[in-house]
Amino acid sequence: MEDRLPFGSELIDRVGWLINLRWLAVAGTLLAIGPTAVWFPGSLPFGTLLGITIAIAAYNGLFRAHLKAIRRTLLEEVQNRQASGSALGQIILDLCTLIALVHFSGGIENPMVWFLVFHIIIASILLPHGTSYWIAALAGALLITMTSLEVGGVWAHHHLPLLGVELYDEPLYLLVFVGGLVLVLFLVAYLTTSIAIRLGERDRELMTSNQTCQLRSQELKELNDRLRRVDEERTRFMVLVTHELRAPISTIYSALELALSGVASAEKTRDVLERAQKRAAELLDLIRDLLNLTRIREQTTTRDQAEEVQVDDLLREVAEFMKVEAEGKGLLLEVDIAPDVAPVQALPNQIKLVWTNLLSNAIKYTESGGRVWASLTQDDEKVRGVVRDTGMGMTPEDLSHIFDEFYRAENARKVSPHGTGVGLSIVQRTVEHWGGTIEAQSELGRGSTFTFVLPRADR
Ligand code: ADP
Repeated sequence: MEDRLPFGSELIDRVGWLINLRWLAVAGTLLAIGPTAVWFPGSLPFGTLLGITIAIAAYNGLFRAHLKAIRRTLLEEVQNRQASGSALGQIILDLCTLIALVHFSGGIENPMVWFLVFHIIIASILLPHGTSYWIAALAGALLITMTSLEVGGVWAHHHLPLLGVELYDEPLYLLVFVGGLVLVLFLVAYLTTSIAIRLGERDRELMTSNQTCQLRSQELKELNDRLRRVDEERTRFMVLVTHELRAPISTIYSALELALSGVASAEKTRDVLERAQKRAAELLDLIRDLLNLTRIREQTTTRDQAEEVQVDDLLREVAEFMKVEAEGKGLLLEVDIAPDVAPVQALPNQIKLVWTNLLSNAIKYTESGGRVWASLTQDDEKVRGVVRDTGMGMTPEDLSHIFDEFYRAENARKVSPHGTGVGLSIVQRTVEHWGGTIEAQSELGRGSTFTFVLPRADR
């Protein structure tokens, strides 16, 4: 059984409630004493009863002031301890004053003696659960002591004027009454303690589900934020794609319009249609790149589709294919591959695309007479691919944007007006998708170096 007390301000509020309740008890007692004193003058020690009531009011005032001081305490733990101590002190004092009031107003003849039960209930609300049994025991002991002293004549019994019969002349009745009342006190302690324990459990369950709810709502919020970011990125991508598609399509459209109008000469028409065809071919390139980029962006390839890929074989294959293009442009293409390069986990077509994009850029952006190298090495953990050229290079500003979708440097636009600006985005996303990284170094007019690493599949 875990003890659970109302904590901090909750406990203080309940102690405040007990103090307010006591003001009512004081008023009620005064209301009972007044008329009885008028109707049955001299029947009871009204002065003493009044004195006890004033004493109750006095200590209630003190407890009220003490509670105010407790409220000002900063440490919740100290606050809690002080409020709990105050509640215990009040309940014990209440028991003693109630027994005194009862004694001077008829002893067990006075129905007020049943008010002892309230103290047990209050104890189970304010104090740790086991304490209400101790309060019941104290109340029982006080009751038995009072009755015994009265019966023994040590404490003079004051007969209740309202009552005709003298209950103290019936010893058996006295025994059954006191015994019954003590039993009731313990039963009430048991009942209220059980209820308080159940309520405490409910409280804890509520607290736990409240915490779980908070956690869930936090998770939902994060998920929502992520979805919003993805949505924003998708919209941005759509805008960029539409913008990129617009230019070639409108060129092709204008060319067709001119050709169909019949106003241009046959030679001019042919020239325009040839340009349109070229633009259409570029458009197809762009669409191919966009498809590749979309696949990578959406990560439609899952890691369980991965296979062991020999990056060196793919480099040889791509370089062989690119050599023709490089030589046609008057460039020297060299390949340097370390022996026994370990495979990586990926899809072969995607790694081939990485080599193709990097090498075709190097060739595209290097003037005739320049050099392009591709090398492949490895260390304990990774496979490292490098593509270097002696081409036109980039400014630091361009370098910081080249992996952005559709970004093209000004010098690149001059050399190759109809590039897509998508190739490096595909390369970066592919490498990162398979657990690697890519970086670029470049100097304007001197050349560029692209280095990517991928984790070895055998580690
Ligand atoms: P594209 O080559 O179609 O423009 P990429 O995404 O492949 O698109 O490249 C983006 C930009 O990065 C290029 O437009 C160019 O400005 C720059 N770039 C890429 N590779 C090189 C290189 N080897 N030398 C100089 N600039 C390069």
